[in-house]
Amino acid sequence: MSSQLPPPFSAPYASDDRAVAARLLAEARLTPEREARVDRTARGLIDAIRQNDDPLGGVEDMLREFALSTREGLALMVLAEALLRVPDAETADRFIEDKLGQGDFIHHETRSSAFLVNASAWALGLSARVIQPGETPQGTIGRLTKRLGVPAVRAATRQAMRLMGSHFVLGETIEAALERAHAHSAGHARYSFDMLGEGARTAADADRYFNSYAAAIEAIGQGAGDRPLPDRPGISVKLSALHPRFEAVSRQRVMAELVPRVIDLATRAKARDLNFTVDAEEADRLELSLDVIAAIAADRTLAGWSGFGLAVQAYQKRACAVIDYIDDLARRLNRRMMVRLVKGAYWDTEIKRTQERGLDGYPVFTRKAMTDLNYIACAKKLLTLRPRIFPQFATHNALTVATLLELTDGDDGYEFQRLHGMGEALYAKLAKDRPAIACRIYAPVGSHRDLLAYLVRRLIENGANSSFVATASDPNIPADVLLRRPADIIGNADNGGYAKIPLPRDLFQPERINSRGIEFGERAALNRLVADVAAEKAFNVTVKDSTPEDMSRAVATARGGFSSWSHTPAAVRADALERAADLMEQRSAHFIARLQREGGKTLDDSVSEVREAADFCRYYAAQGRKLFGDAQPMPGPTGERNTLRLRGRGVFAAISPWNFPLAIFTGQVTAALMAGNTVVAKPAEQTPQIAAEAVRLLHEAGIPETALHLIQGDGHIGAALVAHPDLAGVVFTGSTEVARSINRTLAAKDGPIVPLIAETGGINAMIADATALPEQVADDVVTSAFRSAGQRCSALRLLFVQDDVADRMIDMIAGAARELRIGDPSDPATHVGPVIDREAKDRLDAHIARMTREARVHFAGLAPASGNFVAPHIFELTDARQLTEEVFGPILHVVRYRTSGLDAVLRSIADTGYGLTLGIHSRIDDTVEAIVDRLQVGNVYVNRSMIGAVVGVQPFGGHGLSGTGPKAGGPHYLTRFAIEQTVTVNTAAAGGNAALMTEEG
Ligand SMILES: Cc1cc2nc3c(=O)[nH]c(=O)nc-3n(C[C@H](O)[C@H](O)[C@H](O)COP(=O)(O)OP(=O)(O)OC[C@H]3O[C@@H](n4cnc5c(N)ncnc54)[C@H](O)[C@@H]3O)c2cc1C
Repeated sequence: MSSQLPPPFSAPYASDDRAVAARLLAEARLTPEREARVDRTARGLIDAIRQNDDPLGGVEDMLREFALSTREGLALMVLAEALLRVPDAETADRFIEDKLGQGDFIHHETRSSAFLVNASAWALGLSARVIQPGETPQGTIGRLTKRLGVPAVRAATRQAMRLMGSHFVLGETIEAALERAHAHSAGHARYSFDMLGEGARTAADADRYFNSYAAAIEAIGQGAGDRPLPDRPGISVKLSALHPRFEAVSRQRVMAELVPRVIDLATRAKARDLNFTVDAEEADRLELSLDVIAAIAADRTLAGWSGFGLAVQAYQKRACAVIDYIDDLARRLNRRMMVRLVKGAYWDTEIKRTQERGLDGYPVFTRKAMTDLNYIACAKKLLTLRPRIFPQFATHNALTVATLLELTDGDDGYEFQRLHGMGEALYAKLAKDRPAIACRIYAPVGSHRDLLAYLVRRLIENGANSSFVATASDPNIPADVLLRRPADIIGNADNGGYAKIPLPRDLFQPERINSRGIEFGERAALNRLVADVAAEKAFNVTVKDSTPEDMSRAVATARGGFSSWSHTPAAVRADALERAADLMEQRSAHFIARLQREGGKTLDDSVSEVREAADFCRYYAAQGRKLFGDAQPMPGPTGERNTLRLRGRGVFAAISPWNFPLAIFTGQVTAALMAGNTVVAKPAEQTPQIAAEAVRLLHEAGIPETALHLIQGDGHIGAALVAHPDLAGVVFTGSTEVARSINRTLAAKDGPIVPLIAETGGINAMIADATALPEQVADDVVTSAFRSAGQRCSALRLLFVQDDVADRMIDMIAGAARELRIGDPSDPATHVGPVIDREAKDRLDAHIARMTREARVHFAGLAPASGNFVAPHIFELTDARQLTEEVFGPILHVVRYRTSGLDAVLRSIADTGYGLTLGIHSRIDDTVEAIVDRLQVGNVYVNRSMIGAVVGVQPFGGHGLSGTGPKAGGPHYLTRFAIEQTVTVNTAAAGGNAALMTEEG
């Protein structure tokens, strides 16, 4: 036996759809006789599904109890999904009332993502038979409430919630689940139990999950009987539930902390000879999962056990490679392994993440038929790898099942799997026709509170119109449609990708290409980047401060260069910016190294910043082509031609901060240049090298030296620049005080009135009510308050939490903050780097000292002793007014509020005078709307983090003390840098209106 592990798993993260399609299509066809058999079998299964009219067992009881119609019962289930978390009756009633809407349901439907989830629930099984076209859950509940009143609807909704729970969850405890399983199958069915819950955010969560898995293994083992594997029950385990930072960048920690825990659980499962399956999660965690799985499999204590296994997702392009890897692993370890083949449960999340990360391609297929084709290809591979691999085919799709039956050579050596509450009719029919084929039921166990994430996945699965379950339950769709072979749907390899889902790079086309990102979950890409950045480390150019004479010379030369640059065609100026974007991406490692070294930025922050800078260049280039190209014709009387055009103003001063030393610097400079101005840029004195490199790159990209000048130094040289008489405009990002002083300097000057575009700070707030998902709030709060060490103008400073849920939410946020790693920003595992300098650290430390005396401390992190580190802190204030100024660091202030006090909360936010960013976590659309309407805040983020504005997507900037606008990276920005000129030509001046005279009457 060789105990050697295979080399770490590696496969192209996102292969080209065409290439994969060609491979899959080549092996997809069966002989006509075999295809005919598949048809017959599948038809039989579909008929069985369609004859079953109780897909939601128990609904009838509820309907009787509350005197409801089926459609009302269904509508209540929609409501129930969202009500699961709401603890207090007041919020529950408000939530119900909100969902009743004011009759504008279509409007609601298009706007709210929470509603989309509900809408998919609406499509759950029965809907096609019960619901008339155009009916919505809200409409139905609206009528119901008129009939019964809100309290009765609330009671019925709770009942619906319990029903949904029992439909999809086998039991609230493992004991209850085991009992139900036994009653259901008299001990004959195979089960795999799953302990419900979101991934762990805190160490306490991970401990809780560990204990519940361990207790479940014990309970399952006790009743497991004496049949041998595979005919034994099992447990399914999520690695993300057992570690609070189950992410690629924390690999070392995960291997050191998580692997022993899972080995502990696996050893317990081995002692009972159970099936122990590691569930498949998101694509960026695949490589890490396989590292963990390999380390567990290789543990000597597990030798000789054939119950260990994992799930493989066929919608991932790497699925076949994963199977090869597992086979190699099992062979080397001389071990049998179980492999559950699923299609995958996170498709929508994968598409969104890939677009956000700006990757070259998707790790998952974009056409469902490709997923189906790949599923069969993977299944064939698994069948050939027997007996080393025991295949477990998890699907509810009758065509997939029928095809698998055609590919298998008998009734054993594999099993089917289904989810509890799904696929019952299909598998009942299969059990009748082929009783020797085993089917295992994946059975979630947990309380209703933990049901949500699981339920949402299932509802999306059931509601998606591509889903087999949804189409099979719609009697209007002929069986022939369900029997169309994936290979026929794809046709030829060119159709392997879905044209309506653009590649992430093409998201903003035809206007511009999206900036390129990187997936840290792809080891090869991460290692390459880290090596490239490390190779850049040998730099240390000393930057000399500019003298007042240098500054005057720069302004004079810029003034001299203005005529030529402003007359350069807009298209040529735009080309230069686009070249700059390309160069920036090509040299990203160069900039990342400097951002880390000079700006103390983590790898993730640095990558985002280079992307943002490239996006600014391309966005302003695209805007500039439109705005500064041809003059715009204006309407007017005949015999006259009127046009309007935009031109540069003259010399712009661009004064930028250290917290985004590349992105904000580049954004200001390129906007001013695109508008036809020449620029004298003055970056923050803390980050001079990054600015120098950016200017060098812009010159190289084609911006003339006379059009762009850099002066270096502190506030004194900045103040002298602003006071220079030859400036035509100032763009500034930084503190409100400095913006005020620039404003005063400009106002005091004689001569033309010079515009100021200022973007300053904010005391940014987030409001989280009881309908919000605590795990989501914890993620978003930790990101918003602590990422970039809190040194973003958008960062969260003041969190308002509804008091009914405050204890649990604050605990979870503090627990999640405790898991952040603070340290050297060049280490990819670091989440929080240093603050910018000693002065900043001293100021923050003083604030922490004051808060420690005046507020309740919920969390005080530990920072490395040397260096400018400030650890995350969480303080609870009794009154929001205790926070009087923007605290620019990783310090979060929390205030509790009562639902009746929301108005006062909004007032206190407005009273700060700032208006930059605002976060809202709520599922109540009316609450969200009311808050948005009430507060004049520049950037509002609902149910997500409140940082990371993307150029051209969330144009950035606020009002009041937060800045002048217009928003950077938005459609109105460039015009503020320009003057407008109209030209009116009397075309009739020379001898009459020839054009009019030639018109026919
Ligand atoms: C026993 C069991 C265990 C499971 N464990 C896991 C697990 O560990 N991890 C996990 O992720 N899932 C897991 N699942 C969920 C599983 O992924 C879904 O139930 C499954 O995808 C449904 O497949 P189907 O064949 O029943 O339905 P079908 O309707 O035939 O297929 C649905 C599949 O198509 C995909 N799809 C839809 N549209 C597109 C598109 N445009 N392009 C590409 N693909 C598309 C969906 O994402 C989904 O994967 C498990 C399911 C079962 C039954």
